[in-house]
Amino acid sequence: MTKLALWPGGLMSFDRSRLPDPQSYYENQGLKLSKGKKWATTSCAFHGGSDSMRINLISGAFSCMAGCGAKGGDVMSYHRAINAWDFVTACKDLGCWIEDGKVSSKPPRPTPLSPRDALTLIGYESLLVAGFASSMGHNYRLTQSDQKRLLEACGRIQMIEGFYL
Ligand SMILES: [Zn+2]
Repeated sequence: MTKLALWPGGLMSFDRSRLPDPQSYYENQGLKLSKGKKWATTSCAFHGGSDSMRINLISGAFSCMAGCGAKGGDVMSYHRAINAWDFVTACKDLGCWIEDGKVSSKPPRPTPLSPRDALTLIGYESLLVAGFASSMGHNYRLTQSDQKRLLEACGRIQMIEGFYL
C-alpha cells in the first residue's frame, strides 16, 4: 500500500491489490482483446487506431504502437489517462482508494492540502523527478519500481494542480 502520509484529515492510501484484473478491466472498457499468452492486441481508444494497442495481461501495462503516445504501467494509469482524471478520482472510481481504513468510492476530492503542505509535497516530488531525470542523463536505466515511483510523483503533482486550478 502506498501511504500518502502528508494528507491531512486521516490516512488515505492507494491499495494496489484492489485494482481489477487487467483482462476484465480492459474488456469492461469495451475493448476486444486478441490474446497471446502475456500480451494482447486491441484498438487504441486514445487515437482511434484499430489494432495498435498492446496490453500486458499480467501487469495491465499498455502501449500504443502507432506512436500516439498512449502508454502506461498499469490499469490505473490507463483509467486516469482515458478519463483525464487525477490520480485520486481514478483510484476511487476503481474502488482502490482507502480512507481511514475503508474503501472510499465517492468521487468528491479529499480535503485540499494547505498551500504550505502542497508546496512541500510538490517540492519533494519535483526533487525526486529531477533526481530520476539526472540519473537517466547519466545513462542509468530506471528499474520498474523507479518507474512506478516516477509515475506516482507525476500523479501527485497533477493531483495537487487539480486542487488549486
Ligand atoms: Zn494510439
